Amino acid sequence: MINLILFGPPGSGKGTQSEKLIDKYGLFHISTGDVLRKQIAEGTELGKIADKYISAGQLIPDELMVDILRHHIESHPEAKNGVIFDGFPRTIPQAEALKNMMEDFSSEIHAVIGLEVEDDELMERLIKRGIDSGRSDDNPETIRKRLDVYHSSTQPLKEYYTKSGHYRKIKGSGSVNEIFNEISSHVDPIVKK
Ligand code: ATP
Ligand code: MG
Repeated sequence: MINLILFGPPGSGKGTQSEKLIDKYGLFHISTGDVLRKQIAEGTELGKIADKYISAGQLIPDELMVDILRHHIESHPEAKNGVIFDGFPRTIPQAEALKNMMEDFSSEIHAVIGLEVEDDELMERLIKRGIDSGRSDDNPETIRKRLDVYHSSTQPLKEYYTKSGHYRKIKGSGSVNEIFNEISSHVDPIVKK
């Protein structure tokens, strides 16, 4: 059983690569963005709160986000067989909370797969995605804000997970399959252990 974090800026391809990881390794996928968007679509109280932050390109406050994640894991027993965390953690406090949570479940994070893509390319990809997806946060102004938030609040996790020995740097530009092959070359040895 392995637990992976798929790490990277908005538009780096976390969702796309997650699908391939699910197929190959049979892991349970948790995208915090998807969890929040489902709440918004259902019009729940939580969804209303989340919508305010997401549309402004801001992060959901750590304490709330951690509660949502814990609840999601606890209500999905399949998570016990290994998880791909997509879009979580996004801050150092979230990473600390995840570490504690994993310990509570007698588990651990095995690797952090870091998709690295330049801002110019991210901007281009997200504007394109916005046209098809209609996502309220995929417009130039909000994308710029999300990239700022990424650099100030999320990027420090790269150093955090490099120090802990978990970080695996992946070139996140190129074809989807090329990128996935590089990811696999890091994950295969962990699975085989
Ligand atoms: P990608 O395109 O690589 O999947 P993304 O940043 O475009 O990444 P999501 O991961 O779906 O999209 O997140 C969308 C929004 O949901 C974020 O901008 C943020 O407001 C909120 N969100 C998602 N995960 C978290 C988190 N761990 N902490 C706080 N807010 C979060
Ligand atoms: Mg996503």
